[in-house]
This record gives sequence, structure tokens and C-alpha cells, in this order.
Amino acid sequence: MVKLADNALMVLKERYLQKGTSGSADETPEELFRRVARGIAAAERKWGGEKEVNNWTESFFEVMKRLAFLPNSPTLMNTGTVAGQLSACFVLPVVDSLESIFSTLKQAALIHQKGGGTGFNFSQLRPKGDPVYTSGGYASGPVSFMKIFDAASAHVKQGGKRSGANMGILNADHPDIEEFISAKKGLGNLQNFNISVGITDAFMKAVYGNAPWDLIHPNNRKVIKTLESGNLWNQIVENALLYGDPGLIFLDTIHSKNPTPGLGKINATNPCGEVPLMPYESCNLGSINLSKMTIGGSVDWFGLEKTIDIAIRFLDDVIEVNQYPNPKIRKITYRNRKIGLGVMGWAEMLIKLGIPYDTQEAVELASRLMHFIQEKSKASSRSLAMIRGPFPNWEKSIYYPNEPLRNATCTSIAPTGTISVIADTSSSIEPLFALAYQRMHVLNDDTLTTVNRQFLDYLYEHHHDVNSILESVFEKGTCDDITSLPTPIRSLFKTALEISPEWHLKHQVAFQRYTDNAVSKTINLPESASHNVVDELYKMAWEHKAKGITVFRNSPKGKKVLNLGVKG
Ligand code: UDP
Repeated sequence: MVKLADNALMVLKERYLQKGTSGSADETPEELFRRVARGIAAAERKWGGEKEVNNWTESFFEVMKRLAFLPNSPTLMNTGTVAGQLSACFVLPVVDSLESIFSTLKQAALIHQKGGGTGFNFSQLRPKGDPVYTSGGYASGPVSFMKIFDAASAHVKQGGKRSGANMGILNADHPDIEEFISAKKGLGNLQNFNISVGITDAFMKAVYGNAPWDLIHPNNRKVIKTLESGNLWNQIVENALLYGDPGLIFLDTIHSKNPTPGLGKINATNPCGEVPLMPYESCNLGSINLSKMTIGGSVDWFGLEKTIDIAIRFLDDVIEVNQYPNPKIRKITYRNRKIGLGVMGWAEMLIKLGIPYDTQEAVELASRLMHFIQEKSKASSRSLAMIRGPFPNWEKSIYYPNEPLRNATCTSIAPTGTISVIADTSSSIEPLFALAYQRMHVLNDDTLTTVNRQFLDYLYEHHHDVNSILESVFEKGTCDDITSLPTPIRSLFKTALEISPEWHLKHQVAFQRYTDNAVSKTINLPESASHNVVDELYKMAWEHKAKGITVFRNSPKGKKVLNLGVKG
């Protein structure tokens, strides 16, 4: 029997279990994991016999059933169904012609329809007011096209189950950059987009040196306008503080780690930022549940290694059985075979090990752990390459000729927004959001209530006044001011907003050091956070070689996905 938490069951029933003709779930969670395991292991037939297929079906089923590893949502939803699209992440090109813009929009709609998310860099589009020779009119600029993409996304629910997620990027030297930076201002603007400014090292140096900054026409490369770089930077910081957007993506850092630089530059990421991709590339993700990777108060390195090996094979198999939205995506995905193995349950693992999140010890373990995951993932990808051959573009990659790998990238840290609910653990590498919280439902206004299980276990084991403690936790979502709890316990159970933004970033940077792709991380800021805090964090992220950064300021106004406490 698969053991699942109530919230997990509710999410599965609504969106993941196959429905019968009556519209109600026609599949048990166990059957779901079987369907997925069998569907993915079918890829094994290409290299082995029926026995191999059956063995891997069992291994894949077993890791999912134990909630030790889960693939991204589209794989859980669509394997073995007519939808058949299994990847969460796509990047599409945006070229400066009406025909190509609307062709990309169509491709995006079809990707959303089956549960994928899309990223775009709009910097090739001519600026607002530029002549359009075919019509004799004037161009409306990148932001106006983003609004069209946004409206389309709102109407195409992903797989009928979530609304289309997008990443929109504009480079800091585009003439429309100021309009872009404040594009989220005003209620309801670009709701289906995360937006990020594409930042180069040259821009950061201009900001540090207070130098002027040229905005350049993307087609004729003429300087259209010159701004104070510091002024542009302050606009970015101000909007990020007020609206949580724009984030930054660091193009030169991404390029310096591009596994296939000979094939061209990477100038965009998927919606949550964890996978930088070239146009038409797709990537499928999966995450290991770290809360299942401890044994007797220590990291279960052996269990972790075994799970990594199964997970990498699973993700490589996904590329084989995946149904691609169009031939271009299929071709480049086959040629680079990018996969992204990541983690969830990091905060829960730290609690099990007795290490508070905001300590050097936690950050050092983050590095050590991700280094291990990276090395073992590469070892598994190498073993697969020996039998299945390296990825077809290997000879054009940084790995040629010394390291034959099956996959151009192996690791990525995704937000695990839904699969962490299914696995009943903390999301990704985030600290606990709260000890008690309500999660706004993605599709309607229902809420899911969650009380941290580890905290409850601790209370029942060590305290008599559980009810009065819980009363206070329900109110605030935290335990920091409950003086009847010992100080080390209050430190161990600190939540996202009680942890300073610098510690959030330190975890992101530690995981990034050993991640091929990128790390999706929300740096939570208190409501009182100042302009200077964001200014420093954004600079620190660049200095420490993060590939991108996003902040989120807590605000009592506005609709959030997660709400602290369960009262009120
Ligand atoms: N994603 C999406 N729509 C959503 C949530 C996620 O398209 O509503 C895509 C997006 O590319 C994101 C990736 O899925 O970066 C992974 O997100 P997450 O880990 O939260 O997905 P899960 O597998 O937990 O549903």
C-alpha cells in the first residue's frame, strides 16, 4: 500500500489520478505509480529484453511508492495517457517578425495545454515606436507582445489542470528595458509571467563603476539612448521590492557553464529559472526526497547513491518515451538529452539531523550533499553512455573527449511546488514556510491546511502543554516566541521569514556550485525590507555566481500561494 498524507491524496485525486467516464478518480495512487513506472521503463526495451523492462518497472515503482523520488508533474500526469508530454520545461525563440511571434505563441499554447511551462527572451524584438515597413506603422514593442502571450496563457489551462506558466526575459541593454522593469505594476498585469532582466557582467561593472549605460537597437546595433546605469539598477531594485519582479538572470555566468557553447548562447530559462535552455530545448525534472535520506540521525549516503542511480536512469528513459510538441523540440532534446535531478525535503532533512538552517554547518552540508549528488549523477550518466552512447552533440560539448556522458546536464533544483505536497515534505531547498499554514488552492479558492509533522512529533514526545503551544502556533505559524520551548528547538524550527535573506542566498549559492543547470529559490523578505536589502542581495547573487535571483516580500495584501498560520 502507498501511504500518503491527506493533502497529498486530495491533490492526487483532483489533478493526477486518471478519471473515469463519471469524472471521478478511476485510479488509485498505487496504480498511478505503476502506470508511470511501466510507461517509463518501456524505454528499456530498446537496449534490453522484457526482463530488463520488468526489473526497472519494479525499481521505478518502488522509489516512487516510498516517495523517495518523484518526477515533475507532467510525467506523473501524462505517462501512459494520450497527452504523453512529460517535460515541465521548454524555451522557445522569439524572432522579430509577426509571423514568427505568433508561431511561437501557438507552440507555447500547445505546450501549456499539456502541462509544460515556457520561457522566452524577447530582446530580439524591435523597440516600441520603431517603424514597421510592411504596414507603414510603428512597432508596439516587446512588452505589448508579452501581454498577448499572457492573455493566451490565462485561457489555456495547463493540461486542464494549472494555468500556463511563463518566464519573460528582456536584456538590460534593450531600448524598452524601463517599460519592462515596471511591467508588473498595476493589478493583474502579466499574471502568468515571471519576469527577469538579462544581466551581463558588463552591466554589473557599469553599475559598480557608476558608468553610463547604452540601450542598443537589437537589429542595427545603434545606440538609441544612454542612461545612468545606477538609475536603471535602482528601478530594477525598486520594482523587485514592490512586486517581487523583475528577478535577474546572469547571462555570462550561465554562458560560462554552458555545456554546448559551440551550438550557441543560452539566453533564457524555463518559468521558475532552474533550467537555462537554448531555443526549442526541453528538459524533464525529478527530485529526490531528502527527508527519506537519513538514518539514525545521519545522512544515508548509501541509500542516496542508490536512489540517484535509479533517478538518472528514469529521467534518461523519459526522453525516449516522451511525446514532443513539435519536431524541432524533439530533435534538439534528443541531441542534448538534458535532464535535471534535484531535491526536495532539504529543510526536513536538516531538522532530522538537528542542524538549524541558518548556520554555516547547514550551508557546508548543502555543498557536500549536492557535490555528492552531482558526482553520482555523472557516474550514472557515464554508465548509461557506455551502453546507450553519449548524447549526440557530445563531440560539440565541453565534455569531449574526456568524459562521455549520456546527458548534457544532469542536475537542476526545481521548486517542487506540487510534488513536495505529494511527498509530504518541505519544498525544494527552502526552509519550512511555516509550522502551520494554509496553501491557496491552485485552481480554485479552496485552501489546504498543513501543520508540520516533525514539529507535532516533537511536541507530543516532549511536552505536556501541547494544546496551548499549538494554539499559539496556529495563530502565527511560528514558534520563535514560545518561551516554554527550549532555545535549540526554536532555532531548529525557524521558518522562512525568520531566516535572514543572506542565509537563504547562501543555501542557493551552495547548491548552485554543484548543479549543472540552475537553482530555483525564493529569497523571502520581511514586509519591512528596504531598498538596500534587495540592492545588496542582487549584487551578492552576481558576485557569488548564482545564475539568477528572485525575491519575494511578505505582504498582507494580495493573493499569495502560501499564508502563514491557519487562523484569520
Ligand atoms: N511549471 C509550470 N506550471 C506550474 C508549475 C510549474 O509550467 O504551475 C513548470 C515550470 O517550468 C517549473 C517546473 O514546472 O519551473 C517545475 O516546477 P515545480 O517543481 O514546482 O513542479 P511540480 O513538478 O512540483 O509540479
